[in-house]
Amino acid sequence: MNHDVDVVVVGAGFAGLTVARELGWMGARVAVLEGRDRIGGRTWTDTRMGEQLEMGGGWIHWMQGHVWSEVTRYKLPVAETPWPDTAHWLVGGDRRSGSAAELLERMNDGMRRSIEDCMEVFNRPYEPTAGDGWRDLDRLSVTDRLAELDLDDEAYALCDAMWSQNFNAPAATGALTQALRWGAVSNGDWQLLLDICSHWRFRDGTVSLANAIKADVTGDIQLGVHVARIDERPDGVVVTTADGREISARACVVTAPIGVLGSIEFTSALPREAQQVAADGQSSQGFKLWVRARGVDGPFIAMAPSDEPLALIQWEHAFGDGGDFTAFSFGTDARKFPVTDLETVNQYVGRLVPGIEVTDFASHDWVGDPYARQTWAMLRPNQLEGVQALATMPGRVTFAGADYAHGWCSFIDGAIESAMRAARTLRERVLYGADRY
Ligand SMILES: Cc1cc2nc3c(=O)[nH]c(=O)nc-3n(C[C@H](O)[C@H](O)[C@H](O)COP(=O)(O)OP(=O)(O)OC[C@H]3O[C@@H](n4cnc5c(N)ncnc54)[C@H](O)[C@@H]3O)c2cc1C
Repeated sequence: MNHDVDVVVVGAGFAGLTVARELGWMGARVAVLEGRDRIGGRTWTDTRMGEQLEMGGGWIHWMQGHVWSEVTRYKLPVAETPWPDTAHWLVGGDRRSGSAAELLERMNDGMRRSIEDCMEVFNRPYEPTAGDGWRDLDRLSVTDRLAELDLDDEAYALCDAMWSQNFNAPAATGALTQALRWGAVSNGDWQLLLDICSHWRFRDGTVSLANAIKADVTGDIQLGVHVARIDERPDGVVVTTADGREISARACVVTAPIGVLGSIEFTSALPREAQQVAADGQSSQGFKLWVRARGVDGPFIAMAPSDEPLALIQWEHAFGDGGDFTAFSFGTDARKFPVTDLETVNQYVGRLVPGIEVTDFASHDWVGDPYARQTWAMLRPNQLEGVQALATMPGRVTFAGADYAHGWCSFIDGAIESAMRAARTLRERVLYGADRY
């Protein structure tokens, strides 16, 4: 087979951009095919409500070494989301208030014990299936674990809120092993995990990193090109686009999220467990919501359990001098609690924060988005083996992406980590290795 390029990369999110850059630096000819009309994937720095906002992923941390090395490489400035002073939380529909420190204290015991065994079960977080300890636990949900802890109503409601917020889905649908993996990469410290998830961000948006990596991609990045079929043959891969164009290559890297794997036809069968994961989808099904509001003085946080429209809302920064501010929020069910109009958003937010008045809002429906169908990937029970089977597939078709990462799976960091691994694998397997084919 003649090869148009050495490697076709499907998707120009952080995994696709990074693998394209790395392969280019190794001397490979690369073509990146991206379905959307922009790069960045599930990160999207957009102008909404008169300012730049992250509609998707945004926070990063130096505990996430892969993304932080990119911060260093490109000298990108970072900025802080402030830690809140005051807090409100719902227990059985009733609102309680206190300081943010009190909020953490009330959930501390439950959160700590919910991941107490994480370092034992995943003592090598970057080799998630290395031991056997996870196998018996993988059938359990996070709620199963919380039920074992004998928590009082308040602690249970708060732990349910925190884990549902982490999963962007009701904790009952999320795998305990997923929670333990996040715990393990945070050295078993749930408060460090919280800091990693919502403290530091790119001052100039995730787009600043996406553009920096893009500038180092030597190959072609084609936008608005939907990949419909990936045909793996003994001597190469033929990628067919939705408009019938065929591109041949020695290998292909697929970075599409789990939620849309089913929309691509693979001629070589995916591992059986992986097919099941693609058919069922992972658990995240919620939304991120930005609000412009007034009526609250200074940084606050509010949390609610998974049967409420919003799991969390937090003050981000003042907007102008008139007492307006911008806050971010997450809900765990985009279909049950749609964010369609200002009145509805005010109802959701008003349940949590006394005195608040929302004057504008912005959100993106990732669950309805044909290139995502999910937010950040959080596995359901019994899916770890299937996803790892995809991450380590032999042959000319390789998977990379946050959804298939070993360490910080579901984060920007994981997208970059998996891309570094995929590039190295292809270098050995199809480009320059002794046993290349
Ligand atoms: C609301 C939200 C908040 C988040 N918050 C954070 C956070 O604060 N910190 C953090 O680290 N992470 C966060 N994440 C997760 C993080 O953004 C993602 O895990 C990461 O960006 C995924 O990168 P990726 O390259 O693996 O996948 P993607 O970014 O999804 O890239 C895959 C690309 O493939 C393209 N594609 C898919 N199918 C096809 C096809 N058939 N043909 C052509 N192209 C195709 C898609 O359009 C997409 O551009 C968040 C995500 C969301 C949605």
